[in-house]
Amino acid sequence: MAADRAYKSTPHTRKGATTTFGSRTDIGCLRDHNEDSLIVAPPLFAVADGMGGHAAGEVASEIAANVLAERAPAHPDSEALGRAVEEANRAIIRAAREGVGREGMGTTVTAAMLEGERLIIAQVGDSRAYLLHQGKLQQLTRDHSLMADMIEAGQLTPEEARTHPNRSVITRALGSDPHTHPDLYEINVETGDRLLVCSDGLSGMVRDEELESTLARVRDPQRCASQLVNEAIAAGGHDNITVIVADVTGFAEVRRKKMARKTKVSIALVLVLFAAIIAGTAWATNTYLHNAAYLAEENGKVAIYRGVPGDVFGLSYSELVRTTDVAVDDLQPGFAERLKGGWRVDSVEAAEGLVTQYQQEIDAENSKSTSEKSNASNNSASGGSASTGGTHDANPPTSANGTTPSQGGTA
Ligand code: MN
Repeated sequence: MAADRAYKSTPHTRKGATTTFGSRTDIGCLRDHNEDSLIVAPPLFAVADGMGGHAAGEVASEIAANVLAERAPAHPDSEALGRAVEEANRAIIRAAREGVGREGMGTTVTAAMLEGERLIIAQVGDSRAYLLHQGKLQQLTRDHSLMADMIEAGQLTPEEARTHPNRSVITRALGSDPHTHPDLYEINVETGDRLLVCSDGLSGMVRDEELESTLARVRDPQRCASQLVNEAIAAGGHDNITVIVADVTGFAEVRRKKMARKTKVSIALVLVLFAAIIAGTAWATNTYLHNAAYLAEENGKVAIYRGVPGDVFGLSYSELVRTTDVAVDDLQPGFAERLKGGWRVDSVEAAEGLVTQYQQEIDAENSKSTSEKSNASNNSASGGSASTGGTHDANPPTSANGTTPSQGGTA
C-alpha cells in the first residue's frame, strides 16, 4: 500500500531549537502499521519501537513518547530522564489494564538529550544511539536483546546474529514489569560530532559501515535521515524504520547564533533611528520652507513671496503672496540691490513689516522733498538767504528704527 508509505507526522516538536537535526520514520515494506514513534524536541530526541500486534505496539510507543515529551527535564539530566522513562513504563502498564491497546503490548525507548557538548541517554530495548566522531561511527548503547547477550557470551558472531531467527527477541522493554529501569549514559561529545538515534528497522537492515559512510557524507541532517531510511528500504525494509540525525553544534555555536540575533536587533534599531532622523529633518526643513518668506521684484514693484528664492534639492518652494505698491525705483540703491537675489526674511509677517517700513520712509522722503520745495519758493519770494538748516535741526526725519537717515549727512 503506497499510501501507508507516507511520512508519519512528528508529534512533539519544541520551538527555539539551536541544534540542527533531521528525522524521518517509515512503515517499511512488509508491515501493516508503523508502530514506531519519535520525539524531535531539542534537546530531547527519542525513538520508541512498539510491539504487541494489531496496532497495540503503536499505542504503547505513542504513550511512551507522550509521557517522555511531557516529563523529560528541560536540560540534560540522566537521573531525571531515567525517571521519565520509568513513568512511561508505568503509564503503558496502566493503559493496558484499563483496556487501552492490548495486554502485553510494549515498546523500546532510546531517549537522548543533547545540549551543547553534553549528551545523555536513557535506554530500554534494542533501539540504538550511535555517535559519528571524526568520521568514525561508534555504537553508544547496548541492546537489551537475546542476540546481544549471545554475542557477549561468545555464542554468536554479529554477522550470524543478523540472520538469526530470534534476532528480534528483546530482553527488556517498557510495558511488562513495573520495576523496569533504563540504562543511563552520560557522554561528552564535541562540536562536529553527529548523533544518530534509530529503531532496529535501520540498524537491522543497514550495516554499520554504510551508516558511517552516509552519516559522514550527507551534510544536511534532514537529507541524511531521509537517505538512511531509503537505504533500509532498498535493503528490504522488513520493519518500520525511524531515524533521527542531530548535529552537535556546541555552546560556542549557540552563543554565535545568539550574538547574530543581537547584532540583527542592533542593526534594526540603528535603521529605525536613522529613519527617525531623516523624517525629523525633512519635517523641520518642510516647516522652515513653508514658513519662510522673501522679498523680490515683480514688474518694478516689491513683491512678497512665501518660501525661499531659487531651488532646494532641485525643487522650488516659492509662492507669490502679493505684489505691493512699493516701487523698486523709490527704494535706496542698496535695498534695490538686495532685492535682486531675493531678500530672505523669517516669515510673511516680517516681510509685510519691512514693506510697511519702506512705504513710510518713502512717504516721509516725499513730504520732505515737498516741504523743501515750498521752503525754497518761500525763500526766493522773500529774497532772503536764510538757511533751511534750522528746520532740519529742529525736526530731523527719523527712520522707523530710530536711526538718523543717511541723507542727514548733507546737513
Ligand atoms: Mn522494530
